[in-house]
Amino acid sequence: MALSRRSLIGASGLASTAAILGASGSTPVRASPAGLRGYGLPSRRIGSLTITPLLDGYIDVPLDQVLGADPEDAANLAAVAFQAPGQRRIPVNAYLVRFGGRLVLIDTGASSGMGTTLGRLPVGLEAAGVTPDQVDAVLITHMHPDHINGALTPEGRAVFPNAELIVPDTDYVFWHDDANLNRAPEGMKPFFLGARKVAEVYANRLRRFSGESDIIGAIRSVPLPGHTPGHAGFILESEGEGLFIWADVVHIAAYQLARPEWGLAFDTDPHMAAATRRRTLERASGDRMLVAGMHLPFPGFGHVAREGAGYRFVPTEWDYAS
Ligand SMILES: [Zn+2]
Repeated sequence: MALSRRSLIGASGLASTAAILGASGSTPVRASPAGLRGYGLPSRRIGSLTITPLLDGYIDVPLDQVLGADPEDAANLAAVAFQAPGQRRIPVNAYLVRFGGRLVLIDTGASSGMGTTLGRLPVGLEAAGVTPDQVDAVLITHMHPDHINGALTPEGRAVFPNAELIVPDTDYVFWHDDANLNRAPEGMKPFFLGARKVAEVYANRLRRFSGESDIIGAIRSVPLPGHTPGHAGFILESEGEGLFIWADVVHIAAYQLARPEWGLAFDTDPHMAAATRRRTLERASGDRMLVAGMHLPFPGFGHVAREGAGYRFVPTEWDYAS
């Protein structure tokens, strides 16, 4: 190759962006929002709403955390997806929704507690030209650390000083139940403590929702229990258009669309999660819904097609944030 990496970076002026996005794995460098606005930030318009996905980072999931997976079948599915057998790398997405001068952030990423491959959401927010104090509401799909811990700084202070924190009631109750905490395996106990810490810091501006309810603006909740007891998705509707943000219905697109019965070690109730996944995939494909997911390939917008006894994810188009 005649072009070195250096010359490519120099020619396209991307050097600072690579540093900001932490491509080197070191601490991200901050830049002014104006310097980044519009750079590579995809978004979708749904009627009068603009939805901008923000990538918090990624998690590598080893095969032994995929419940019910047959290794040979998994290797075949990986090959179909042009991927090596074994662990799968999944993104952690959050979604920023703008409407009528308001800003709602759906999920927050993980902050610093889950290793250096996560915790980049603040950089994405800045690239979107948004400061944390401008966020009016933080809406949580479920109280797992990669979805809620980003509401706090590494020092444990609120990242979003003016935002209402809106969480599923069933999750709030589950993660605050000492009996559940006491019988949880050691590795899960930090999940409880993290969820409680966030709820405590936001206690004076915390709202809980349940069932199918109007949350804020054109955003409506959809219970999707199993991954956690209160796990919820959101349907956004405006001017005849819709988007179904299904949260963690699918963690590993390369496996779980073809094999909806495969679960994840972090599912509170893997059987219920699988039933919810099957039902949700059937609904999304049957109704030709535009979907987005917290672990679907970034930016996560697409459709679900039926394929054989399972399904297939079909990524779709997006625009730049404006
Ligand atoms: Zn998750």
